[in-house]
Amino acid sequence: MELRQEALKQLKQFSEQHLSSYAAKRNFDYGPKMRTNTSVLSKYISHRIIDELTVLRSAYGAYPFARIEKFIQEIMWRTYWKGWLEQRPQVWQDYVTDLAKLRSQTQTEQYQQAIQAATAIPCFNDWVKELQTHGYLHNHARMWFASIWIFTLKLPWQLGADFFLKHLLDGDAAANTLSWRWVAGLHTKGKHYLATTKNINLFSGTTYSNLHLNETAMPCIEAKQYPITPLSFTNPNYDNALCLFHYLDCSFAEQSPLVSKSKQVAVLDCVSHLRSLQYASPVLDFKQKIQSQLQQHLATSLNKDVPSISEEHLANFVKKHNITKIVMPYLTTGYEHDLVEKIKKEMKEVTIEYAVRDYDKYCWPFASKGFFAFKDQIPGIIAKFM
Ligand SMILES: Cc1cc2nc3c(=O)[nH]c(=O)nc-3n(C[C@H](O)[C@H](O)[C@H](O)COP(=O)(O)OP(=O)(O)OC[C@H]3O[C@@H](n4cnc5c(N)ncnc54)[C@H](O)[C@@H]3O)c2cc1C
Repeated sequence: MELRQEALKQLKQFSEQHLSSYAAKRNFDYGPKMRTNTSVLSKYISHRIIDELTVLRSAYGAYPFARIEKFIQEIMWRTYWKGWLEQRPQVWQDYVTDLAKLRSQTQTEQYQQAIQAATAIPCFNDWVKELQTHGYLHNHARMWFASIWIFTLKLPWQLGADFFLKHLLDGDAAANTLSWRWVAGLHTKGKHYLATTKNINLFSGTTYSNLHLNETAMPCIEAKQYPITPLSFTNPNYDNALCLFHYLDCSFAEQSPLVSKSKQVAVLDCVSHLRSLQYASPVLDFKQKIQSQLQQHLATSLNKDVPSISEEHLANFVKKHNITKIVMPYLTTGYEHDLVEKIKKEMKEVTIEYAVRDYDKYCWPFASKGFFAFKDQIPGIIAKFM
């Protein structure tokens, strides 16, 4: 995959030139023209064009642990969010339900000013434009943005999370939804993140004045509790199965040789589904590109015909090829997963099973409490997988 080559090149360059100063410099947002103090790998990692272990191994091989500990922890934040949401999928379902209820609020002047970069807060307007142009924001800018959205503009966090998810090239249901909840004070109950003019001016490299941010707001609260749903995984048998890939785990085939045993291989087209949810065009184009490259890559490496199949054509394909079992790389909670759950209900004649990576199977159960408890497991995770 061309995108994989691009990602590996970026990883190499970052590891060799900037990783050693990551801990000291990562919090500074120097703007879109100077993105070397963080890896900017998120759009690749979130689609597993390169997976977490590839990135961890590259860092681990380059420097002593103490030097790269902060970077490893940041990669682990992704694993933590994924595992946390996987054990509480109701958080996502409630978010989707809330969004439908909040739809009328997108017509308000306050919301329209926010998404059109027309608020009275210049830094916020700058980030809106940057997000729409580049499909990316620095982590600190994401925190400031979410905090201003919730506490100064007083807009619902769910609408902000929706705006992010549909404009970020790295948009990820777990990292995004849970980070917004974290800023609001709903993840660590009562502990919210308040953006301040002083902090923005210190780390953004721009001197903004008269921002008039709400720096004393109280955290958001919710009555609902989210108990853990225990994870359960199967070990699917690929014999006579259709192995149905998707763009959220592009490197799955490389670490699972059993895939070659499947009767048919195809890629599920999820882009049309996201188009119906009104994702921004650059995000749809990026996902379309990933999907096409994944399809070509699988066809070459497995030496098989690999079609791309949309939801509407799946039933016909299955019937034509006499398929009764579909195996997919595990689909984590999010819109693509919702699509497959809908397909499962409609296509009763086939079973759909998920194949899960050892890394996810091992790490996700540790994400049962806060990140600090998860962090204690990092040495064990490193020892097992490096
Ligand atoms: C409100 C908000 C929304 C966010 N939404 C997303 C999202 O949709 N998708 C997404 O991948 N990240 C999200 N993040 C996390 C983080 O901002 C990005 O992962 C990071 O900015 C990507 O830049 P980078 O690749 O240079 O990161 P680096 O600092 O170089 O980190 C390396 C990798 O570690 C992972 N990572 C780093 N920090 C985090 C984090 N806090 N949470 C999860 N993973 C992390 C990413 O895969 C990243 O590529 C969000 C953060 C906030 C505050």
